Amino acid sequence: MKYDVVVIGSGPGGYVGAIRAAQLGMKVAIIEKYNTLGGTCLNVGCIPSKALLDSSEHYHAAQEKFADHGIQISGLKADIKKMVARKNEVVSQTCKGVEFLMKKNKIDIYTGVASFVNKNTILIQGENDKKEIETDKVIIATGSKPVTPAMFNYDKNRVITSTEALNIEKIPSKMVIVGGGVIGLELGSVFARLGTLVEVVEFMDKIIPTMDAECGKELLKSLKKLGIKFHLSHGVTGVKATKTSCTVTVKKKDSEESFDIKADYCLVAIGRRPYTEGLNLEAAGLSTDEKGHIPVNENLETSVPGIFAIGDVIRGAMLAHKAEEEGVFVAEYLAGGKPHINYDLIPGVVYTWPEVAAVGKTEEELKASGVSYKTGKFPFKALGRARASMDTDGFIKVLADTTTDEILGVHMVGPRVADVIMEAVSLMEFRASAEDLARICHPHPTFTEALKEAALDATGKRAIHM
Ligand code: FAD
Ligand code: NAD
Repeated sequence: MKYDVVVIGSGPGGYVGAIRAAQLGMKVAIIEKYNTLGGTCLNVGCIPSKALLDSSEHYHAAQEKFADHGIQISGLKADIKKMVARKNEVVSQTCKGVEFLMKKNKIDIYTGVASFVNKNTILIQGENDKKEIETDKVIIATGSKPVTPAMFNYDKNRVITSTEALNIEKIPSKMVIVGGGVIGLELGSVFARLGTLVEVVEFMDKIIPTMDAECGKELLKSLKKLGIKFHLSHGVTGVKATKTSCTVTVKKKDSEESFDIKADYCLVAIGRRPYTEGLNLEAAGLSTDEKGHIPVNENLETSVPGIFAIGDVIRGAMLAHKAEEEGVFVAEYLAGGKPHINYDLIPGVVYTWPEVAAVGKTEEELKASGVSYKTGKFPFKALGRARASMDTDGFIKVLADTTTDEILGVHMVGPRVADVIMEAVSLMEFRASAEDLARICHPHPTFTEALKEAALDATGKRAIHM
């Protein structure tokens, strides 16, 4: 069988790229080593984590907030088995949806590990058989895996990553989470809401360290209220596990001071690495860089003409929506189009409560690059909609160029800001000024009004409700 395009990996990069290529008239095959399509995002990432975040958030609201709303409940209980079963059902339906889309777009699905025989021939090693297919072009979309250094003694039982954490069926009494980044804080929230004593060990002196520092500080306050304990500027020097528990040795940075924490689980969430094992890249004339990424040029083409790479396996943010845009980009480029991705405006969201969302430059980045900027800020506690729902933690911050007033960055901590951020992204795509945003009529009462107020604050300190 000869294809125009073979896509290796069925995550959000691969399956979206495959659909777009098929829409543009190409004969497409997709190869996935697992039995379900959808990659990390659908199987062990975005979708299952958000399913558990939603379930645990309902439980926590019932326990902590309903009484204030005048709702009395007795006999409230968290059934984590049922939560995991519901999550599995959501995952299964979503993965089947991708299979349906492949069939609808006449994309051939192959199950097995793909490896290069040469740049135009791909070997597919299935459980019981193997076959080779020929192709004109290849898109590598093999994604990433969690980083698990040997000293953590990752055993998938007590020392775990997000993949195993998503399937815990008994609420742990105590969990140590190594890494105060996105995964650590999202999954830490799930378990803390269910009653687990969660302790986060973070090497830096702040959480979500790549985001605007003020957002990290604000989220830290909320997560401490939830009961999560933080050891900032601390690292882990060793983990010992038995069948039923683990002991994590934690050491203060730049000091000899160390202590042990005994817990049911140690969740290692210190980042992910590009995944290229088994691809036999050398046979195609390819290699990875020092960080394990497949190097690509501005058209996402590798050093071998006709082989492209997208998503977590290449440089840049490890985000599903970034991978999707790159899948579409390559398909359209192959069809002779002139696609474009604005890497400066890829939004980032952390699905804790309050949520964190951001787009564009942080204050730290603007300071480092010497750009003169002005700041507008509005706290959710001053917003009627937030008081109505009793979600008053957080703020929205708008950063705009001092001279031109162009919006350079928007950073939010608060209720439903995962959705509010899109207004900022859209406006910034059209290079709007803070004044443009401040003059747009926003529906009342909504959380989006906090964005308008922050823009008013940025343009002459004229926020109305502050
Ligand atoms: P992947 O989704 O990793 O897919 C790669 C696929 O390739 C896999 O299915 C793999 O089995 C397959 N593969 C690998 N090698 C081969 C081979 N040789 N042959 C055949 N198949 C192969 N991102 C967000 O934007 N929002 C979120 O809320 C979010 N939440 C997350 C939560 C968790 C717990 C995790 C772990 C990640 C989360 N992410 C989130 C990140 C997101 O999942 C990734 O950025 C995204 O999945 C990357 O897509 P991809 O297509 O590059 O690769
Ligand atoms: P991360 O990079 O977000 O956070 C890792 C954290 O671990 C950092 O704060 C880092 O300082 C810390 N760290 C690193 N080594 C350490 C050590 N030895 N001891 C203590 N702390 C250490 O990585 P992650 O949370 O594992 O997530 C991986 C990727 O998955 C991220 O790049 C993210 O883009 C993606 N993801 C996205 C979402 C989302 O969009 N909502 C959710 C989950 C995951």
